[in-house]
Amino acid sequence: MKFNSVIGLGPKKKQLIKTVNDGHVSHALMFHGPEGGGNFPLALAFASYILCENPGEDDRCGQCPACKQLDKLSHPDLHFSFPFVKSSSPKIETTERHQREFAETVLKNPYLTLAEWELQLAGGKKSIITAEEANNIVKALSLKSFSRGYKFMVIWMPEKLNIAASNKLLKTLEEPTDRTIIILVCNSTEGLLPTILSRVQEVRCDALSEGEIAEALTVRDGVAWNDAESYAARAEGSYSKARRLMGEDEQRSANLEMFVGWMRHCFKVSFTEIFKLADAFAKLGKDGQQQFIDYALEYIHGSVLHEFAGRENALFDAKEAAFAAKFAPYITAGEIGRLHDVLSEGHYLVERNANANLLFTHMSLELIRYFAARKAGHNA
Ligand SMILES: [Zn+2]
Repeated sequence: MKFNSVIGLGPKKKQLIKTVNDGHVSHALMFHGPEGGGNFPLALAFASYILCENPGEDDRCGQCPACKQLDKLSHPDLHFSFPFVKSSSPKIETTERHQREFAETVLKNPYLTLAEWELQLAGGKKSIITAEEANNIVKALSLKSFSRGYKFMVIWMPEKLNIAASNKLLKTLEEPTDRTIIILVCNSTEGLLPTILSRVQEVRCDALSEGEIAEALTVRDGVAWNDAESYAARAEGSYSKARRLMGEDEQRSANLEMFVGWMRHCFKVSFTEIFKLADAFAKLGKDGQQQFIDYALEYIHGSVLHEFAGRENALFDAKEAAFAAKFAPYITAGEIGRLHDVLSEGHYLVERNANANLLFTHMSLELIRYFAARKAGHNA
């Protein structure tokens, strides 16, 4: 991470570089700021600046051997500790097994949130930093640095230190070994022991502005400016949240496209197209299949509301609303239950690992029957 790839936080970058040049770097710092606001990438850029062998006025050089290692987050004097899920089989009591995975995840997404990490690590299970891990931290810091310069221990999400782990770290924070810098990266100080807080110097990072987030989405993620502004306005100062909203919208669009195609092909009884969709449905995997069915259920109920309970209250975007106008006349309050049953049963069968192709075809046949009855009703 370089300072120039950290979004916003200009004055903080200047202030940190000044402390390095003045020789006033504290041995224990706490980068404290809201989720998705950049405290973690800023901390990484700061440590990297100090580890660089030939730093420039406002950033690390990017060329020296240390920078080459920093580019891969594999510098031997840059250590990480972070929350993980403890388990007995396989035996996991420290972050040792997860070190490389963590580094690679952070390289891909330095704005990583705890929820994203927990989801990747163990499907969303709650994580902690254990006393055994704290022992490892103390041990890593007691070793000589490889480059004979500073060595860093970056503890990401110290909120997750349990009490025993916190206590083990106190002594190290109080009497650090020579040329050692400990950096805590936290979103909240609430769960931290006052004895820890009193031993670290705080680097407070504010939430990002809407303009900074919109610009980052445009430059880094290739989002059109209008969309970027709209995500930024809903992101509450978090680049991570803006990206999450973007992902949800993409997912919603993909689900809508598949749903519209499905309804049209069932309405027209076009089996070739239905079989193609069944293949696409199978490829979504279990989670994707359930999300699609959830979306279909929401859409069907939403379209009735949209058409009959006042469009101004509907939760549909423009594309969803356009199809609802054509679709809703085939759904009535009395008949909606049948569609609901077909899809709910599908959802249940996905959970029970039903063959996705067969299941999709089965639901399609039910829908064909449903539409045939409605068409007859319309013609009568
Ligand atoms: Zn360098």
